[in-house]
Formats: sequence, C-alpha cells, structure tokens
Amino acid sequence: MKSIAIAALLAAVSAKNLEHNVRTLVSFGTRSTLSVQDDPKRGIGAARDWLKAEFDKIAATSGGRMTVELQSYTQEPGKFPRISKPTVVTNVVATLRGTQAPDRVYVVSGHYDSMCSSPTDGDCDAPGANDDASGVAAVLEAARVMAPQPLEATVVFMAVAGEEQGLVGSTYFAEQAKQKNMNIEGMFTNDIVGSSKENRVRVFSEGVPSSETPEQATVRRSIGGENDSASRQLARFIAETAKTYVPNFSVWLINRRDRYLRGGDHIPFLERGFPAVRFTEPNETFEHQHQNVRVENGTQYGDLPQFLVYPFLANVTRVNVAALASLALAPARPKDVRVLTRRLTNDTDLQWTANSEPDLAGYEVVWRETTAATWEHSAAVGNVTTYTAKLSKDNYIFGVRACDKEGHCSPAAYPIPLRERPAAAAAVELNTSLRDELLAMSKADQEIRQRWIKDRENAALNDEMRGIDAKHVARLREIIKEHRWPGKTLVGDKAANAAWLIAQHGGKDFLHETLPLMKEAVEKGEMEGASYALSVDRTRIQDGQKQLYGSQFDTQGDKCEPLPIEDAEHVDERRKAVGLDPIADYTKALCELYKKKP
Ligand SMILES: [Zn+2]
Repeated sequence: MKSIAIAALLAAVSAKNLEHNVRTLVSFGTRSTLSVQDDPKRGIGAARDWLKAEFDKIAATSGGRMTVELQSYTQEPGKFPRISKPTVVTNVVATLRGTQAPDRVYVVSGHYDSMCSSPTDGDCDAPGANDDASGVAAVLEAARVMAPQPLEATVVFMAVAGEEQGLVGSTYFAEQAKQKNMNIEGMFTNDIVGSSKENRVRVFSEGVPSSETPEQATVRRSIGGENDSASRQLARFIAETAKTYVPNFSVWLINRRDRYLRGGDHIPFLERGFPAVRFTEPNETFEHQHQNVRVENGTQYGDLPQFLVYPFLANVTRVNVAALASLALAPARPKDVRVLTRRLTNDTDLQWTANSEPDLAGYEVVWRETTAATWEHSAAVGNVTTYTAKLSKDNYIFGVRACDKEGHCSPAAYPIPLRERPAAAAAVELNTSLRDELLAMSKADQEIRQRWIKDRENAALNDEMRGIDAKHVARLREIIKEHRWPGKTLVGDKAANAAWLIAQHGGKDFLHETLPLMKEAVEKGEMEGASYALSVDRTRIQDGQKQLYGSQFDTQGDKCEPLPIEDAEHVDERRKAVGLDPIADYTKALCELYKKKP
C-alpha cells in the first residue's frame, strides 16, 4: 500500500541539492583519511566540519528529534595496513530518534573519505565525486527530506571516514553498536551511486550470514536457508518499496555480499550480526575510480563531478528514502518465527512471538517457490501468533511479516524449524515436589478405581471417587495456571503421564479445556502424541462425533472394531503424525488382547 507521507518525502528529493553536496565535497581537494585535518579549506577535516554543519541545519528542522555527533577516535597503526601512524578517524553521525520504538535502529551511510591512485597519499588531489561523495550526498539529502517527518523507529544518517583505509570508520561504529547492544535491524551503505545512465541500482546482499555459527550453518543446510538471511530479506524489502514508490526505476538484486575483490562499509555490520546491504550503480567506470586526476592518451582519469548523472543519484536517494521510511514507519520484523516440524504433515504450521507495537494490525504470511528470487504470494492472517498454511513446507519457502493499521509492513522474517524443546523450555528444571505430588495423585486415582471395579454399585464409594477426581481437577488447574501443561522437562516422564491420566478422569469439560495445552506440549516434545490423540478421540466420542485417530473401540458382545472414524482413509497419516502404529496393526493387537477376532 502506498503511503502519502512517504510519497511526499520522495517528491522533495532534489537532484540540484545532490549536485551541490557532491561539488562541495569535491571542493576540499582531497578527503583522504590521512590528509590534513585542521585546514578550514582543504582535507578531510574541512569536509568533516562542513558535514557537521549541514547535519546541524537539518537537525534544526526535526523538532528536537535529531541529534548530531562527531564519533571520533585515534586509530593506532598495526591493525590496518593502510594506516601507518596514529590517525584520528571521525564519523559524522546524525540520529533521528523514533517516536514509538526508539531502540529499533536503521543505519544509512556513505563514506566521505576519498583516495587517489595511492591509498596512503594524503596530499594528492582526490576528488572522489562518485566514490563516495555521491553516497554521502544521498545520505545528506535523505536526512534533509526525512528529518521533519516523525518516524516510529530510529534512523541513523552517517558519513564515515577511513573506508579506503580498510573500512576503518564503519568498523568502529559497528563494534561500538555491538558492545552497546544496539538493535540495528537494517543497514544500507551507499558507495558509488552517482554516474549511471541505466534506470536501476544494484543492491548487494549476502545469503549465508558472515556471522553464522556452526549450529546455525547446520540448520541452514538442513532447510535450504541459503537464500533467506535477514540481509536478503532486507534487499527484497528494498526492491518491493522501490517498485511501489519510484516509477521508471528499479532495484537490481545481486545475491552476493559485494563485488569481486571489493568490500564496503556494510561488511563490518554483517560480521557483527546486523542485516546489511550495499547500494552501487550497475556499471562502474574504473578509469574514474581511485585514480590521480590526469589526461592520458586523450582519456580523462579521475573521479570528477562532471561524470555524475544527478537525476540518477536522485533516484537512488529516493529508493533509500522509500525503504528507510517504510522500515521506520512499520512494526519490527516478527521475532522467534518458527515452523513446527514435529508433525509429519503436508501443512505448514508457523508460530511467532507477538509484536508489541500499539498500532499493530496483524500479520501476513508470504511464500514463494523454492527457486523464486522474491516473494510471490501473501495472505493476511489476522492478529494471531500461529498459522497453518495448507501448503507443504517441503515445497515452498515461507516468511512472516508484521503490519500496522496504516498498512506499513515489516520485512519478512524467515522461520527456522522448531522440533526440539525451545531454549526457554530447556531452561526449565525438574520440579521434584511437583513430580511427587502428581505421582501421589495418580496413585490415589488408581487405588479408588481398583476398589470401584469390585463394587460398582456402592453409592458411598462412587461419591468418594467423584470427590477425589474433583480435588485432582482443582489442583491440576492451579498447576496449569502456574506452569502451563506440566511436561516431561518439569516433572519427568512418569509424572507427565500422571497429569494426563488425571485429565482423562476430570470430566468432559475439563478434558476439553486441557486439549489445546496438551497440543502445545506435544509440539514442544513435552508430552506423548499418542496420549494426546487418545484424549482427542475420547472427547469427540463423548460429544457424539466421529473419532480422528481410531483409538476408541466398540468391544460390546462379540464385537471388536474401532468406533466410526472421520475421514477414515487418511487415519494412518494422522496416526503416524502422533507416533501411532497403522490402524490395522493396532486393531489386530488390541483384539487379540480381547481374545476376539477382528
Ligand atoms: Zn567507496
């Protein structure tokens, strides 16, 4: 859905401003990180001070939401080969604070340093118009149009130094962010985005995360998740918003981290686990990059502002603004998105944790063919935290996104399988007193029933049994309230089964009440699927419905056969999903037990 507010921001992007920004940056002669830092007219220090002043002017239009700081530190030699003496590195950082979720952060950057042919020459002219005054100009213009617009999440507009020295400034910012536990949900670097005649910009995103652990790699391999990293979802999101908002211009998705032999400021973010992408024009002109300004054999070398195409740079800026504003106005990506794999079925069971935004409307499930590059289908599923898609997880790739009441949706979150107990449940410790209590309850349950079998007509005994059952139900209700269903991790296998037994004898209403909790416990591996199936069948028969799993039998007189089964031809699939034998085998075994022929 197109937002009027975002369309208005895009209309405000000006190619003229962008050209002015590029030419001003070029006017400082060189912006090498090793150049002079205290000359008001030449060198990276002059560029730094101009950028700070420009961001300060922009901040004045933000109603106090934007703050500007110089993030400065001294890089000692040793770590980066292109820094051979202590060098002050300064990132210019403008933070536009979110109104609703200020801790959720999106970062957009360009690098304001430049280089000539030699990366360690701080004196030569290095205009760096495309690399990367273009990216910095885009960031500055994006900040200018976005600052007056209140956004729900925080956007950081940043011009970094030291890129040509080995991603020095961006590494510093990313490391600080990691140490401060900043929640960066997306990072864009704009680097060489100013001189193309094509109507599209490349967005590079990695598929296998740079920060992946061996355990994550195992999961990724097992589910074919190499095309669904958070960075790849971010790239897809950018392509979609560009399609909605920037006519006659598009995003060319490139499924790799960066170009051959090259690396950009998104990489330090990727290495620290933050989703990040790179914007770069589609066809680079290498005689203009990293070259001393000169004419050789009639060819002009050097990264000069006359080679830029400012309407192109304006469109790249619009793609950035459309994506950033859409991200910062939308809810966060859904968290803990899982696909349940315990049940062997041709459905896809998804679950996730509820978002906390007050204007949340609900969720959309998206899916595509496994070979498709971008999402192909979506379904609004309401404000829920579980959803069963009638398509097989084996044949499609799914995602979940969160949407607010104005129709802003987050990027998709890719589900990982939930088969074993989740981490939270694994942290549950065995509660021995609860275990013993449940075992005592089941012992009492069995003792009274042993007596009752021998004396069924005894009214006093019937009253006593009903009294014990009622007491057990009341206590189990309290236990459920405190712990949810008491599963194997909490009370051990035997007592978990005892809880199930008590529920069977607690009456029809109580059994109905506990079925969803049992289902949840089965999905978490906390309870036997076969026990759950028995309870489902029992309630259905009690309600006069057909059973689902064939666990209930008619053994009156000479008979030994299952009571009527709903959708009987698929009963074995359902039995298999909860760990039961095929119905034929079960019937044979059960009826032999009854010493009758099936
Ligand atoms: Zn660059």
